[in-house]
Amino acid sequence: MNNLSENQNSSHQKRQQRLKEQVDARIEAATEIRGIIIVLTGNGKGKTTSAFGTVTRAVGHSKKAAVVQFIKGQWANGERNLLEPLGVPFYVMATGFTWDTQNKETDRAACQVVWQDAKKLLSDPAIDLVVLDEITYMVTYDYLELDELILAIKNRPLHQTVILTGRACHRSLIEMADTVTEMRPVKHAFDAGIQAQMGIDW
Ligand code: ATP
Ligand code: MG
Repeated sequence: MNNLSENQNSSHQKRQQRLKEQVDARIEAATEIRGIIIVLTGNGKGKTTSAFGTVTRAVGHSKKAAVVQFIKGQWANGERNLLEPLGVPFYVMATGFTWDTQNKETDRAACQVVWQDAKKLLSDPAIDLVVLDEITYMVTYDYLELDELILAIKNRPLHQTVILTGRACHRSLIEMADTVTEMRPVKHAFDAGIQAQMGIDW
């Protein structure tokens, strides 16, 4: 090895050592153990799939997860086909809200029905992870009281983690959350005229 590359190597090692010390210090500082609130928002693809990725992870560690979906999709969803037989209960808004619905009253009523299921999950210590998929729209459209949602989340069992997904998340929910990720659409195939696909988009 020549002198130049020896120097490069040793400064690389020093940098890595400093980085390791910083990471170790942060690991040591993180002493709290509790469930967290995760918000997955933004206009890019990946919010619901990320939530289900976490459900898969939890189930893989024998944890108990439950999913509440606040928008009824047009198609049967692949995650439900896989996860329900593995013991993950799904509560899906039966009728009502879809993108072209016009009737606020029936939507609100449908939201309230599934919200009762969500509230039960949020007070059940047997549940480790609750996914509230597309819930941000329920707040935006006033189908669900923001204060009631915040209260139910705040009063959940200490070890329970909650994931909220959907675009344009209310800032109070973002403030309350521990982890917030905003998906940013750099590109989307749909904009290039490519159809949504089973197994990729639902
Ligand atoms: P996914 O379920 O794929 O993780 P998402 O939850 O981030 O997507 P939603 O806003 O819930 O996004 O979108 C529902 C559907 O629209 C999904 O089929 C998704 O693939 C698609 N989609 C997501 N983002 C975009 C976008 N920027 N343009 C067009 N379609 C999108
Ligand atoms: Mg989604």
